[in-house]
Formats: sequence, structure tokens, C-alpha cells
Amino acid sequence: MNDSQLKIIPLGGLGEIGKNMMAIELANDIVVIDCGLQFPSYDLKGVDLIIPDTKYLLESSKRITVLITHGHEDHIGALRYLEPLLDCKIYAPKFAELLLSRESKFKYPIKIVDSRVTYQICDGLSATWFSMSHSIPDSMGIVLHTSLGKIVHTGDFKLDFDDEKYQITDRTFLENLRNQDIAILMSDSTYAEIPGVTPSEDILEEPLSEIIENAPGRCIFSTFSSLIRRIQRIINISERYHKKVCFVGSSMHKYTDLAFSNGYLKAEYGTVVNIKYLATLKPSEVVIIMTGSQGEPRSALVRLSNNELDNLTLDENDTVVLSSGVVPGNERKVSDVINKLVGNCREVVYQPLNTVHVHGHAAVEELQWVINTVRPKYFIPIHGEQKHLVQHCKIATEMGIEEDRVFMMTDGDIGVLDDKRFRIEDRLNLTEIWVKGRRIYDACEVLQQERSAVSSAGVCVINLTVTHRDVVVSKCSEFGVVPQERKKQFRIDVEAAITDNQIKLLELMDNLVVNKGRIDEFIRNIIHKMYRVNPKIICNVTFS
Ligand SMILES: [Zn+2]
Ligand SMILES: [Zn+2]
Repeated sequence: MNDSQLKIIPLGGLGEIGKNMMAIELANDIVVIDCGLQFPSYDLKGVDLIIPDTKYLLESSKRITVLITHGHEDHIGALRYLEPLLDCKIYAPKFAELLLSRESKFKYPIKIVDSRVTYQICDGLSATWFSMSHSIPDSMGIVLHTSLGKIVHTGDFKLDFDDEKYQITDRTFLENLRNQDIAILMSDSTYAEIPGVTPSEDILEEPLSEIIENAPGRCIFSTFSSLIRRIQRIINISERYHKKVCFVGSSMHKYTDLAFSNGYLKAEYGTVVNIKYLATLKPSEVVIIMTGSQGEPRSALVRLSNNELDNLTLDENDTVVLSSGVVPGNERKVSDVINKLVGNCREVVYQPLNTVHVHGHAAVEELQWVINTVRPKYFIPIHGEQKHLVQHCKIATEMGIEEDRVFMMTDGDIGVLDDKRFRIEDRLNLTEIWVKGRRIYDACEVLQQERSAVSSAGVCVINLTVTHRDVVVSKCSEFGVVPQERKKQFRIDVEAAITDNQIKLLELMDNLVVNKGRIDEFIRNIIHKMYRVNPKIICNVTFS
């Protein structure tokens, strides 16, 4: 590879939601934008997290530098696992840096970036971060300046131009890109299916004020811990109505502590109270902000709904507000927690019944605005499932970008940009990397099938002792195969059935090495005939 070309390789986040990671490879360096994690789907057993496959980076002798757009876990969450392996320098906006440094020690101090400042990252590449509105403080897009033109990466964003007070999105900066040589625009596709414009946070002022003002008892909010602007709004409204605010849940404490101590959150002295003092206040003076908006099993809201929280029980006069959207995949869990809450408190307020949340990603008209403003030579939709990327490609062509300049890349594609054109040249064979506790390992289909088989039908362990003419069951135990009251009978039935079938079993045992699988299968069939279940069989044979 020479100076006259660069490669663009998405290692995560294209064709899926989560584990965002985009590599830009130069002659001597690889610059990576974001390094995020993904939460496993409900049916993926025994996996805590999924992180991007970075073997391509690890096998390369080039220097690696990671540039962070913002502090959401799908953008920074894999760094704590991958930074020691990648031996990389990291550049990040301040709030992301605070989150990263709070959790992990990094070899090189993280360089905090300011918007509109250009940093020389390596030979042949400098980067300018620019402010974008999103659902966590200090969200930014990045412009990479290369000898082949500029590459604009929007990060996660919505335009939020209606938010007169904050005006977070740097509109002027984006408008100025129009007259520059923009080779490639990579833009957030999460809400490419949603028409119109994502509303501003400001539209929540009225409905949230009404709820807090009129609540006859306590007001319990559940929202994303990183949604600091929402939390600030709830604090401000609470102060206006002379109410106290209490935070519950470890992640809520983590984010709000960090935000208060670094000036991202503000409250009057005495507004924030510890959960221990709630009993000394009138319920109508109390606003609680807690974790659990996605129905996470160990979150405060779920524990509250199960009456498992220390110092806090649900009251029939409480108003519970889920000030959050449902992240795809969490629908069942959120529904479950709402079902547990309704009937046990005064009211449960949630989307879409009430307007208590706005999204953090741009809808169609905003995506159109960005494409039309930046007018890139090539367009690559990022951050989305296949269907979002396809939709975003359509938006780009409708906005006048020629079809052969719109590239729907997915994870592993190797795109090459030179002074003539951009094209997809090759593809990496990526796998998922699973994290369980401290262990990191490649996704393993067989392991997953085994876990899935055990979780759906249980395990049965049978020890057989073989004499010269008998097969005796020396142990039969099962886990998750039959209900408690039938366990004893199950053992009796299995022992009897094996005794009845011992001639066939003895035949199979003539060649134990060859027939091991067939013996398990034979016993599974015996059990299936009696109980109509298909457990995983572990059969140990000893000869006496
Ligand atoms: Zn985000
Ligand atoms: Zn994201």
C-alpha cells in the first residue's frame, strides 16, 4: 500500500446496531474511529458482551490510533478490552474521556479534543472534531484531512436546530464543508426509516413539568443514565416545584457523579438527597431518577417492581415515568416491567401513550440536510442494520448523489480510495468476539448450540456399569428435564428402560469408541419415548 491510496474498513456497526468501529488505513498507520461494544441478543447464552473482531489490526505492524466520537458504550465500550492489545493512542471528547478514564487505566493518557481544533494524528492524516447534538454530552463528528480529500464521519447525531437554547450541532461548520473537497461522507443511519425531523429535547419541558407539578405522591423517572440533558431538565423542573431529587441505581450514580463533579450537571444546594432521607420527606416533595428504562434484570426499576430494593418500595400513590425509548431487542423486558408496575402505583407514563422521550438520532429530513449540505463525492451510510443502510442509500441517491458513488458497505468490506475513485476491493472474514467475565474468545457456533440445547431441554447424566452380561445404572441424575415432583419417578423409569434395553446397549458397547455417540442417542430415544423430552445426554460407561 502506498501514499496514493487509503483503505476504509468497517470492523463493526455496519449491518448491525452496536460495536461501532471504522478503520482508515494509510501507508504506515491505521486510524480507527470508535471502538464500541454490543450487548448480546436474548438467545445468546453465557455471553456478557460482544466486541469487534480486530485481528486485522492486531496482525498489522502499523501504528494504531483510536479517535472517539462520543461516550456511548457502542462507541467506547470495547476499548477497555482492546486497548492493551492494540497498544494504541486515544483521542476523545472530554465526557467520553472521563468515562473511559474512570473505568480503566490506559497505557497512554487519553488526549482530550476540543471542537473545531485540528489535531495531527499521524503522517498524512489530521482530524478536526465538530459538535453534534445527541443524547450524551460532548458528542462529535470528525473530519479526517488526507491527501486524497476529506472524510466526514458524523458520529451519532440529530440536528436539533429547533433547540434555541443550546444549538449544539455546529451548523456553520457543516455548512462550511460544502465548499471543501469532501471525498467521503459517512453518516448515521439509525433512524433512516423515520420520516420528518427528530424533535428537540425542548418539547419535553411541558409534559415533564405537568407530570412533576401534578404528581400527588412521588414521581419516579427511569431514563438512560448517560442522558444528562434529560436528567438536568428533571432537576430544573423539580427545583421549580420545590421538590428534592434522589438518584437510584449504580449506573445512574456513576454518570451523575461524573457529570456533577465536572460541571455537566448542576443543582441548587440541597436539591439532591440520599435515598436514606426519603422517608423524612413528604412523598409529594420527592422526585426519583433511576436506572431500568430498558427493563434490565438487575436495574433499579425492575428491582422496585419486584419489591427487591433496599430503602424503597413502590407506593400506590407513585407516578412512574419511563422517559426513554425502547432499544430494539428490549421490547419484551420493557413490557414485562410496565406490566408489573401498572396496578401497583398510581400511574405508569410511557411512550407512545405520552410524550416523555425524544430520540437522539436524525430522521430522514435531517439526513437529507446533511447530505445536501456536505455534498460529498462518495457516500457511505454507517451505524445501522442492513435495512437502515439500504434506506439511507436511497436517501442519498434521491438527494442527487449518483448511484455508483453510493456504497453500502457492511462489516469486513475493504474499500479503497485513490486519486481516481473509491471502490470495494475485498472483504475480511470477521467473526464475533465474545466476552464472558475477563475472558475474550471467538464466537463458537457449537458452544452456542450446546448451551441452547441444554437451556431448552436440560441435561441427563447417566453412569452405566457393565459386567460381562449386565448393564447396571450406577447413577442417573438430571437437571432441568422434568419438574421436581417427577424427578424420582424419572430415575426409576430410566433405570427400568435401560435394563429392558440392555441387549442392544451391550451390542453398542462392543465398540465403545465408535459407538459413543450412538449410545447417547439410543438413551435419548428411550427417554423421549417415555417423556417426550430431548435432554442433552452425558453417558459414562465403566466395565467391571
Ligand atoms: Zn450514541
Ligand atoms: Zn451509537
